[in-house]
Amino acid sequence: MKKRILSVLLTFSLVLMAGSTGTVNAKQPAEDNVITGGKPWIDSDFKENISADLKTDPKDDLHLYANKDWILKSDIPDGYTNWSHYLERELDVKKQCIGLLKDESLKSHDAELIQTYNSLVLDWDARNEIGVSELQDMYDQISAIKSIDDITKFMTDKKTADEAYDFLSYSLSVGYNDPEKYLVMVGSPDLLLSDSAEYSKRTELGDMYYGYKKDMFVCMAEKMGMSSKDAEECFDTAIGLETELAKKILTTEEKLKDDYVEKTNNEMSFKEMVSLTKEFPLEDIFTGMNIKYDGIYIVEEPDYLKWLDKIYTDENVEAMKDLILVQYLLKYPTRIDKETFDKRNELFGKYFGVSGTVSDEEMAYREVVSLLQIPMQKVYVEKYGSAEDKKKMEDLCKEVIDTYRELLSENDWASDETKEYAIEKLDKITIYAAYPEKFRDTSNLDIEGCSLIEAGWRIEKWNNDYMKSLIGTNKDHEMWFEGCNILECNAFYDRQSNSINMLLGMMGEPFFSKDMSTEELYASIAAFWVGHEISHAFDNNGAQFDAYGQYRDWWTAEDKKEFQRRVSKMSGYLDNIVAFGDYHFNGTNVVSEMAADMTGLQCALRMAKKVDGFDYDKFFTKYAQMNVNMAVYGGEVAQVLQGEHPLYYSRTNVPVQQFEEFYETYDVKEGDAMYLAPEDRLVIW
Ligand SMILES: [Zn+2]
Repeated sequence: MKKRILSVLLTFSLVLMAGSTGTVNAKQPAEDNVITGGKPWIDSDFKENISADLKTDPKDDLHLYANKDWILKSDIPDGYTNWSHYLERELDVKKQCIGLLKDESLKSHDAELIQTYNSLVLDWDARNEIGVSELQDMYDQISAIKSIDDITKFMTDKKTADEAYDFLSYSLSVGYNDPEKYLVMVGSPDLLLSDSAEYSKRTELGDMYYGYKKDMFVCMAEKMGMSSKDAEECFDTAIGLETELAKKILTTEEKLKDDYVEKTNNEMSFKEMVSLTKEFPLEDIFTGMNIKYDGIYIVEEPDYLKWLDKIYTDENVEAMKDLILVQYLLKYPTRIDKETFDKRNELFGKYFGVSGTVSDEEMAYREVVSLLQIPMQKVYVEKYGSAEDKKKMEDLCKEVIDTYRELLSENDWASDETKEYAIEKLDKITIYAAYPEKFRDTSNLDIEGCSLIEAGWRIEKWNNDYMKSLIGTNKDHEMWFEGCNILECNAFYDRQSNSINMLLGMMGEPFFSKDMSTEELYASIAAFWVGHEISHAFDNNGAQFDAYGQYRDWWTAEDKKEFQRRVSKMSGYLDNIVAFGDYHFNGTNVVSEMAADMTGLQCALRMAKKVDGFDYDKFFTKYAQMNVNMAVYGGEVAQVLQGEHPLYYSRTNVPVQQFEEFYETYDVKEGDAMYLAPEDRLVIW
């Protein structure tokens, strides 16, 4: 997760877990229908694969057995790339939020902010009248670039430095070595095709990004007065430059590997960092952005910085200018006129396979929450936050932690030394449930009298100023990590604060309610939510951090070896699963999440053992139902190629087939598609 100081902070996404914001998506499968062919299970995320007469049996496919009826009766709504219980739940929250955006009785400053911005988004007449006129000034400045000095001036000038695309990204983060203090991370920029691997070996996902962004850019550039032919050339030149830059940028797969932190945790002083470049004006960019911090910087990809320095030459001026222009205009399709907005939706359909669009009200809410996340959350919590539910969730978390302690202490392969420290880490986990008690102060933000674009600029500046003010300061433990919106149906483990975060947005039907049976509660909260998140403290990534969130190896050498052997066995097993068509799972990308699913389930099954007459069929069925999901073709391709989370049907079937309780409940035998020989079953802990 990465907050870019100089752009909108709130772009966090758990990949396609909440795919409603229209992440990547795509064209439809070829005529001969490549979506089938999954092995050992068909991909039931595709509704097209499921028919009423399809026979289901938990012995062969528990996920399908538990979810066939829901899949048949549900459809992916207009404007969505996926549909699932997560998104159903989020829609409930969205409806409440939309109500708050219209509620005239609300008088707080936060309510005023979100309602004002909402009205600006919905005011098509004003937006149509303004059109792209407010983008003209910056567009002209970029268009006037003729030399490397012009580029330097543009990137370092106090007036433009904050907004200018400058071939890098900057994030505010606590350090890996000192998780108490905020510092600055400097990394490579976001790429048009998303993954640097796309520039050496283009996939159909890369084609989708390329098509969508190119057409969107041409539409925007034409509005600024460029011919479509020039715009197309401009875009392709930008892609050409990115192809060079991408040579030294880590791929998505490399970013998800176990050694990512080890590779990128390059602490440097300001002086050391800026000495990596001679031509590229890194020092002046920081001056332009008014960042005067002389503490520690983390330079994630030093080789990239050196490479950028080599590319920063006169002969690349045109290409750099084109890339700056493309990146600039692609920020704005949702904030200008109706024609552009409709074009964007049309292109989403063309390339991403999404049909229709969401209502204007929902569209406006998405815009509000993407820029004004903090005020929106504050207003929501004030109205709907329940101290009773918060307490209940905290208690449930503690209950799961208690069981987890047993699981760790009775582990049969790790040494006492490693187990003792794992338990210490477990006991130090901070539980953040529902919503924080303290939010960032918003009283100094004012958007009164602004147009939509001006309001966006003010909010971004306000965010940037806030982030800059935190650099070098100590972390405030009462504040939650802001990158995640508590209104999302989601949860996460933060390894640098050793905390589990159960967000308010997930605390509703069908995941959490007062009258759930023990079986349902254990399947949902114990296994799927809390157990899963605690497990991230001990998965292949989380296990590299200690009880205080510091990047530190606390393992004995021998235990570490055995741990890694188990993780790689699991990764290899996942590599062999055929997702659909020719796509295999990528074990490296998804093993952490799968390990968390499995260990969460292991923990819940341990809790179940203590309950007389526990109904395992009910438990496993609910577990499978939590994972139900449908996706358009492009959404599925994006998830299988770049997702950190395995495809949803496998998040049911792979974890359950590791445990004897599942075999006993459904009398699963050798030859059944869910069967895994005892020696092939995998548990990490
Ligand atoms: Zn997870």
